[in-house]
Amino acid sequence: MITRMSTLFLRTLREDPADAEVPSHKLLVRAGYIRRVAPGGFAWLPLGLMMLRSIEHIVREEMNAIGAQEIQFPALLPREPYEATGRWTEYGPNVFRLTDRKGADYLLGPTHEELFTLTVKGEYGSYRDYPVMLYQIQTKYRDEARPRAGLLRGREFVMKDSYSFDLDQEGLTRSYRLHRDAYQRIFDRLGLSYVIVAATSGAMGGSASEEFLADAATGEDTYVRSPDSGYAANVEAVVTPAPEAKPIERLPAAQVHYTPDTPTIETLVDFLNTRAGLGRTFTAADTLKNVMVKVRQPGGSEWELLAVAVPGDRDVDMKRLEAALEPAEVAVISDEDFERYPFLVKGYIGPKALQDNKVRFLVDPRIVPGTAWVTGADKPDHHVVDLTCGRDFVPDGTIEAAEVREGDPAPDGSGPLIAARGIEVGHIFQLGTKYTDAFEVDALGPDGKPARITMGSYGIGISRLVAAIAEQHHDEQGLVWPRTVAPADVHIVLAGKDEAIAEQGERLAAELDAAGVRVILDDRGSSPGVKFADAELVGVPTIMVVGKGLQKGVVEFKDRASGERTEVSVGEAVDHVRGLLGRVSPGRDGR
Ligand code: ATP
Ligand code: MG
Repeated sequence: MITRMSTLFLRTLREDPADAEVPSHKLLVRAGYIRRVAPGGFAWLPLGLMMLRSIEHIVREEMNAIGAQEIQFPALLPREPYEATGRWTEYGPNVFRLTDRKGADYLLGPTHEELFTLTVKGEYGSYRDYPVMLYQIQTKYRDEARPRAGLLRGREFVMKDSYSFDLDQEGLTRSYRLHRDAYQRIFDRLGLSYVIVAATSGAMGGSASEEFLADAATGEDTYVRSPDSGYAANVEAVVTPAPEAKPIERLPAAQVHYTPDTPTIETLVDFLNTRAGLGRTFTAADTLKNVMVKVRQPGGSEWELLAVAVPGDRDVDMKRLEAALEPAEVAVISDEDFERYPFLVKGYIGPKALQDNKVRFLVDPRIVPGTAWVTGADKPDHHVVDLTCGRDFVPDGTIEAAEVREGDPAPDGSGPLIAARGIEVGHIFQLGTKYTDAFEVDALGPDGKPARITMGSYGIGISRLVAAIAEQHHDEQGLVWPRTVAPADVHIVLAGKDEAIAEQGERLAAELDAAGVRVILDDRGSSPGVKFADAELVGVPTIMVVGKGLQKGVVEFKDRASGERTEVSVGEAVDHVRGLLGRVSPGRDGR
């Protein structure tokens, strides 16, 4: 195909859009791939749509190759199936809900477990029917609290979602493995650098779950890994190793101290070490920070107070806290809340007032019986020292809410963790029977007895991938696409107004097209400078300049990624491009 810049529906921009913060968002808008329509909603312009289709194509090939079959559901879905699994309520404000003219409730599908499960139940009944894997590539809707970064977090976005249905765990393990392998092939073909990490299963429910995170400093997810053991996990899924409980008998009794003007951990530690006269040295890790939040159960109207205690040298990581409390909603408490609960003395909150007032009190797993802490004494300017867990306070349980830091010990004991950021581009789950229980999906066995079907669900963020690839493949001048997803194979710049240039350029474009090469031809009347700048911005991997070189009988090739320039005689130009394609992307249109 030849895409002509003279007629292509494209207007590139020299300036970054005002609302864009991350490189992919800036460049995809500037290079004319997408345009914003609403918060978290984008129009795909021709170049963007070509890319989206290339990604879909690769995903389809790999899904079909593992035997998954494509079907398609509507995005507009009735309430009842989601009511049956509890997700109508659990999803809370993240779901777009609407009412039809007859007053019936609908939602715009955030994910489709319910519908796939019901459909399989409707069609299949015997053990002979199974296993089956089904998928769709479809638009999803989530009323995200913070749509951001362009395509990275949309409220309307394209997802590939697939679902496996098996007779037993062995089958599910196999389906899961097939998907995991297919995902690796997909992300490899897309030219992504990524890691596979242990994940929490969130609103999907179920057990085993892993995420595919594309490496990117701009990513919203933080993961840790242990270089020695291969352990890797999203920080949301990191389980803090708990120390052994210690004997309490000989520990000193708790004492309340007057600690004026010490509302922060820093001021407190400084006071303890310089003015308290305790004859001991304290660090922030010896203090206990009681962080107040409020929690609302799905569908509930009341907020419940919750205290989360963490060692004072760590912050509470809201994403970890949210993951630990899901599907409940969490919010930090406001000044009004403080006023409502006079027993909460800001800056000096301690376990005693919390427990006396029946506030749920959850602690970091490091806070075990026999550990002694400096913490608030529930009155201004006072702290209590040697407050001992298991003796002076008994928590209501533990919670994974403290931030995970680089250098923390790996849960598998293999040494210190390394931290990095990434973009979640895929997520695979072993759901088990959560949905088949809700809808009673059984297969009749050879003995005539019913057996419950077990499920997996597997997502890929197709539209998010466009941005994730852009995050990894760009430079100062613009986008630098991997060949497998680029909107064209070669971008021909006609540099100059000579007849001969236009003539040779047109001829080469036609020959390349005939050879199955996807060509962008810049046949506009613009200056060479403008054309070069646009070619760099648009990001096709090979730029071919037809210009002055013709006098010597050559055209110039520029590799967009390396910047390397090569002169090739006009007669060999087509073969040169074919060589590039053959060498760089052996698996292009097939496997
Ligand atoms: P996140 O943690 O980023 O909100 P999620 O865990 O809620 O994502 P899943 O339910 O696992 O997402 O959906 C499968 C895939 O769909 C994700 O791995 C991601 O690539 C993509 N995805 C999810 N939410 C969005 C969104 N708001 N915009 C674009 N892609 C998304
Ligand atoms: Mg996910």
